Amino acid sequence: MAATAQKIAIVGAGPVGSLAALYAAERGYQVELYELRPDLRNPGTIPLNFTRSINLAVSERGINALRNVGHATILQHVMSHTVAMRGRMIHGRLPNGELYEQSQDYDIQGRSIYAIDRSDLNKRLLDTLDSLPNVKLLFNHKLTGADFRTRKAWFEVRDQKNPANGRPREIEIDFDLMIGADGAHSAVRYHLMKFTRMDYQQEYIDTLWCEFNLGPRQVATASQNPSDKFLISPNHLHIWPGKEFMFIAIPSEDGSFTCTLFMPSKEFAYLESDPSSLPAFFDQHFPGVTALIPGKELVESFTTNPHLPLISVKCRPYHYGASGVVIGDAAHAMVPFYGQGMNAGMEDVRILFSILDKHASLNERNSPVGDDENPAVGARLQALAEYSSVRAADAYAINDLALQNYVEMRASVLSYRYRLRKFLEESVSVYFPSMGWQTKYARVSFSNEGYSEIVRRSDHQGRMLVRCFLSLVASPFIGTLAYWGYRHRKCFRGIFKALSQRR
Ligand code: FAD
Repeated sequence: MAATAQKIAIVGAGPVGSLAALYAAERGYQVELYELRPDLRNPGTIPLNFTRSINLAVSERGINALRNVGHATILQHVMSHTVAMRGRMIHGRLPNGELYEQSQDYDIQGRSIYAIDRSDLNKRLLDTLDSLPNVKLLFNHKLTGADFRTRKAWFEVRDQKNPANGRPREIEIDFDLMIGADGAHSAVRYHLMKFTRMDYQQEYIDTLWCEFNLGPRQVATASQNPSDKFLISPNHLHIWPGKEFMFIAIPSEDGSFTCTLFMPSKEFAYLESDPSSLPAFFDQHFPGVTALIPGKELVESFTTNPHLPLISVKCRPYHYGASGVVIGDAAHAMVPFYGQGMNAGMEDVRILFSILDKHASLNERNSPVGDDENPAVGARLQALAEYSSVRAADAYAINDLALQNYVEMRASVLSYRYRLRKFLEESVSVYFPSMGWQTKYARVSFSNEGYSEIVRRSDHQGRMLVRCFLSLVASPFIGTLAYWGYRHRKCFRGIFKALSQRR
C-alpha cells in the first residue's frame, strides 16, 4: 500500500488504462479514471473503441498482467470468455483449382493464443473497478490540457453545458501522477512533450483495414457439440494470404468470426469506385470466402464499415519527473500483425507498477531520496526514469517486429524457407532443450522475455542455422548429397509438404 493516498489520474479507459486503474487501486492509491466517451456498459452506447477491431488476440503478456493484478478473480473472469487459437489456418487454392486449408500450429508444445471480445474485456475490467471504493470512473471527460510541473489538468465534460456560453463545462483537477493511456493520438503525450525532451516518430503504413462478419452456423436445434456453431475451425486464426493483401478471421464465442481485410490504399480506392466487384475480387484473391460470407454481405460491410489507417508510433522517454507517464498505444502504437499492441500495453502496466513498487520499498528501507517533503515523490521520480530506460528498447523492438510480421502473415507463411526454419527451430527445441531454442513467435506470444532480447536471440539462432548449413555444404560428402538433394528437390518438396500437412 502507498504510504499516503497519493492521487493517480489515469486518462483513457481502454484495456490498458482500465488495467492500470486496477493496479493502482490495489496499491491503495486514490484513483480517478477519465474517459472521453460515454460508459460502454450503458445500453445503446457506442463502444469506447469503435475505431478498433471487435475482437483481438490475448496472449501470455496480457494474461500475465491480469494474473499479477492482485484481484483474485479477474483473470478467470476474463479468460472464461475467450476462444483458444492453437495456430494459423492458411487458406488457398491449388494450381488445379481445388481449395485447400493448412493448419500451422503456433507452438510445438501446443500452447495457444486466445480470441477475446474487446468490449467484453473492457466491461469486465470496468465492472471490477466499480466495486473498488478508491476508484472514481469519469466518462464523457476529455483531457484538454495538463501542466506536469504544477500537477494540474483540464477536462471538457462533454455531457454538461456551461450555462454562460452553452459549451461543454470545463473542470480543473489536481493529481500526483498522471498516467496517459489515451491511445495512439494521445493528448497526454502531446502535453507531456512540452515538459520533457521527447523523441517522437509516427508512420502510417500504406495499408487500410475494414471489418466483415462471418456469422455462426444456422442450426435448427441446439447442438451437443459447441464447435458445431462455427462454420470454420474455431481454434485457428484463419488467414487468406495474398502477396499484397490479406484477409483474416478471428473466432468469437457466439460462433461468428470477425474478419479483417488489410489492403493498400490504392486497392481500396479501386474497390470503393465499384463495390459490386468485391465478390469477384474475393473469389480471385481469397478463395472460399464467398461460400462463407455471401457476396451481398461482403459489399454491405465494405460500404458501411469504415476503412481505417494503421499507425505506428515510437517515442522516448515516456515520463516527466514524478508526475507524468504514457503507456499502451499512447507510448507505442503498432500495426496489429503480431497481435501484441494490447498485450504489450498490459505488460507496460505490470512492469511500471513492479518498478514503482520496487522504488517505494527501497525508499521505505533506506533514507528517503529526492523530495524531502514527500519521500514518495522521490521514489516515483526514480521509478519513472527507470521505467523509461528499460521499456523503450522493448517497445521499439515489438514495433519493428509487428511491421515485419505483416510480410510473414501475408507471404512468408507460404514459403518453404519460412516453414523449414520453423521446423528446424522447433526440432532443436524438442530434441536439444538445453540449447534453449524457440521460434521468435513462441518467444513473443508465450513468454514474458523482453522483446529486444527476443530479437537478439532469434538473430543468433538464424546465424547458427546459416553456419550449420554452410558447413554441411562445405563438407565434400554432404556437399554431393546436398547437390543430389537439390537435383531431386521436387520430390523432397512433396515429402516436406506431406510432413507439414500432418502437423
Ligand atoms: P485504446 O484502446 O486506444 O484506448 C484509449 C482510450 O483513451 C479510448 O477509450 C479513448 O476514448 C480514450 N481517450 C482518447 N483520448 C482521450 C482524451 N483526450 N481524454 C480522455 N480519454 C481519451 N492488440 C493485441 O494485443 N492483439 C490483437 O489481436 C490486436 N488486434 C488489433 C487489430 C486491429 C485491426 C487494430 C487496429 C489493433 C489491434 N490491436 C491488437 C492493438 C490494440 O487494439 C491496441 O494496442 C489497444 O487497444 C491499446 O489499448 P490502449 O488502452 O492503450 O488504447
